[in-house]
Amino acid sequence: MTTKTITLSDQNYYTNEADWQYMSVSQYKQFRECEAAALAKLKGDWEPTSNPTALLVGNYVHSYFERPDIHDAFIEENREAMFSKRKPYGLLKDFQIAERMIERLEKEPAFMNLYQGEKEVIVTGELYGVEWKGKIDCLNVEEGYFVDIKTTKDIHERKWNANYNERATFIENYGYLLQMGVYKELLKQQYGKEFVPIIAAVSKQTPSEARLITLDEDKMHFEMILLEENIEHIQQIKMGQEKPSYCGKCEYCREYQRINGFTSMDEL
Ligand SMILES: [Zn+2]
Repeated sequence: MTTKTITLSDQNYYTNEADWQYMSVSQYKQFRECEAAALAKLKGDWEPTSNPTALLVGNYVHSYFERPDIHDAFIEENREAMFSKRKPYGLLKDFQIAERMIERLEKEPAFMNLYQGEKEVIVTGELYGVEWKGKIDCLNVEEGYFVDIKTTKDIHERKWNANYNERATFIENYGYLLQMGVYKELLKQQYGKEFVPIIAAVSKQTPSEARLITLDEDKMHFEMILLEENIEHIQQIKMGQEKPSYCGKCEYCREYQRINGFTSMDEL
């Protein structure tokens, strides 16, 4: 860990050094899921078994709407993982779905007209005593809004969410409400005005569904309150001033948590 503050750029945004200096919504989500696993990952002691395909599919769609040359470079760089090595060579199924999602968004003038502005914008700022970083898919400063593209299995699917005590949408469940809330705050600090967050959702179904989704202010506020309650503890763990706890269920805990007593069946 260094003490010198680095200036974030496209080159260092996703580096470990940047993750030590800045909190991000994804890092926060990892700590909320399992403190021990998140810290081990940050320290470089452990790597989760990742599914590179899911990440690549998202980047495939995002880079397309960022800039044609960036999309081409992305394909060139990840050719190995994206194309079949057997006949009939060509894009693997997941990326064919990504292609369909792109086509689906492209035929919506409402999306194409909205998705205008600066792409992949890095924002930073202080929130609840911690330095944050964020990357916004599309920022329109003049009109005062920003858009994030989210690819999802089914836009209408609802799953149980303990924070809400009800079945919630993918927007709450994947932390997108929190993400947009943090970006809105960081933008407010930087530009001194309120921005409207919009999620451009596109489903992985056939045919794919596309929606431009606005967010519930009260729910976003609720997520920010939860964040405010939790962030100090998480930052303390990150700084080595508090001990991380094991969630007891994740990939990391299954491997590294030792038995040090009995578990009541009711805890399962
Ligand atoms: Zn865990």
